[in-house]
Amino acid sequence: MTKVSVAHNSSKLHKPRLSSKAKVAIIGGGVAGSTIALRFAELGLDTTLIEKGPSLVNGPPICHLHAGGNLYREICDEQCLTLLQQSIDTVKVYPKSVNVRPTVIALPKTDHGQPEDLLPRLEKLRARYSELVKADVRNKVLGEPENYFRFYSRTELEALVDLPLPTVAKKDSDWLVAFAQHVDLNSLKFPVLMVQEYGLSAFRFAAIASLAIEALPSCHLQTNRQVVDITQPENGLGWQVTTQHQQSQAIECNHFDYVINACGFKSGEIDDMVSAKRKRMVEFKAAYVAHWAKCEGLWPEVVFYGERGTPQGMAQLTPYPEGYFQLHGMTQDITLFDQGLVASCDTSAQPKLAQRFIEKIDKQWPEQLISHRTLGSIEHIAQFIPAFSSAEAAAKPLFGAQQIPGEDADLRAADVSFYGKHYARTEIVKASSALAAADAILADLVACDLISAAELGCYLTEHYFPVSQQCSEAQVSDRAMELAAQREYPLALAKIFS
Ligand SMILES: Cc1cc2nc3c(=O)[nH]c(=O)nc-3n(C[C@H](O)[C@H](O)[C@H](O)COP(=O)(O)OP(=O)(O)OC[C@H]3O[C@@H](n4cnc5c(N)ncnc54)[C@H](O)[C@@H]3O)c2cc1C
Repeated sequence: MTKVSVAHNSSKLHKPRLSSKAKVAIIGGGVAGSTIALRFAELGLDTTLIEKGPSLVNGPPICHLHAGGNLYREICDEQCLTLLQQSIDTVKVYPKSVNVRPTVIALPKTDHGQPEDLLPRLEKLRARYSELVKADVRNKVLGEPENYFRFYSRTELEALVDLPLPTVAKKDSDWLVAFAQHVDLNSLKFPVLMVQEYGLSAFRFAAIASLAIEALPSCHLQTNRQVVDITQPENGLGWQVTTQHQQSQAIECNHFDYVINACGFKSGEIDDMVSAKRKRMVEFKAAYVAHWAKCEGLWPEVVFYGERGTPQGMAQLTPYPEGYFQLHGMTQDITLFDQGLVASCDTSAQPKLAQRFIEKIDKQWPEQLISHRTLGSIEHIAQFIPAFSSAEAAAKPLFGAQQIPGEDADLRAADVSFYGKHYARTEIVKASSALAAADAILADLVACDLISAAELGCYLTEHYFPVSQQCSEAQVSDRAMELAAQREYPLALAKIFS
């Protein structure tokens, strides 16, 4: 298995010299806002990142990179190809946030589809990956293009059953030994698919964003500050942004030339402040954390397809070090929630989630519900991996609400939209779309004459992240574990998985 190796293109590029005095405010320090802040501050733009919480990237969970969108059979090929390209860019900029392990996708016998139905899309993805690598070898971050996916027959899996469990993957089939030994092969259709879809660690991402933002003099981070109002001055130039400190309640008002609304599922609240109309949906979902003390060998990400919203909904097992797993089950009793998906209306761009979801986000979950849903997620996986029934709940759930712009609840590849002058809103559904949002907003700053295209030169499209990429492996791990501890999750979720 090829390890991620990224050429630091930035070291070959000259340092940008931007004379722009524009002041940019980014509201919301999730993966979208933090990525934009890094993209701009690395170029030397005066950037203020305003986050109402105490730390960055602390929104809904992130565990899959989605390099090809193979977890979603229901989305169109174009979205999958977009996610592939965006994920490659994400690995190049944030290699230390990536957990390098493949994904194994199996179709249970109860599923309506056939493994061969997946082939046409996989071939398109492999062809696109190959083109991208030919165009620029730095894009080769998911291994050799010809190995992007491979199907394994039942005979091939049965040949692995008696092998000793590898502790390090020297070849792709090493990832299948524990799978072959523990999965009930009689419950599956064959062949099973292995695809180079890696993991993305939210804690490591948060660590890189925090470390780099602290080191970038042109980025002004304001945590514990909530934006409570935005108005346009009488001359119509820029925005007056009012913030309130979460503890002291102190109010501050500042002028910015350009405002970016990166408030995730709360983006509609900021849209409403500036009277920007927008149709969007918001969905509350949760994943669960289990510890499998008897876990042996190497586990890839394992996905058992199923019909979303039914009791047979997709089951996902995401491995972390030391026997910890993050679990999803796309049923109403596990990851999804009755009335968890809501839409905006004509009078407000902010979809209104029921109070019981807001309480879970802002306060905490009832203990009984944590235990009920986590045990449900363990049982859901144990249908296919019987020994997994000995796993135990290991932490509170990883949960939150995410926005989906427009009216298609299946949309997975989205980035940004603009309203009027000098106002952008990020609308990412997946973390890997954050860089595309940053690129598009940078182009809008040029279009608005706030930055000179000539001064920006190649940096309009080249990702220049020298400070972010200088964070060492040890620094990232230490900060990621600190954040996991503060947020009361097992430290294993913050450790590198390889
Ligand atoms: C269960 C679940 C699993 C998921 N798994 C994955 C996955 O594996 N891979 C993946 O790519 N994506 C995944 N997602 C989606 C992903 O979590 C989101 O798409 C992503 O977090 C969105 O990032 P964001 O920066 O747009 O929003 P957020 O992360 O929500 O950040 C918005 C920020 O804005 C701040 N804010 C809001 N209002 C204000 C205000 N008025 N003033 C100041 N700050 C404000 C908030 O505090 C927050 O920090 C998952 C989502 C869920 C719910």
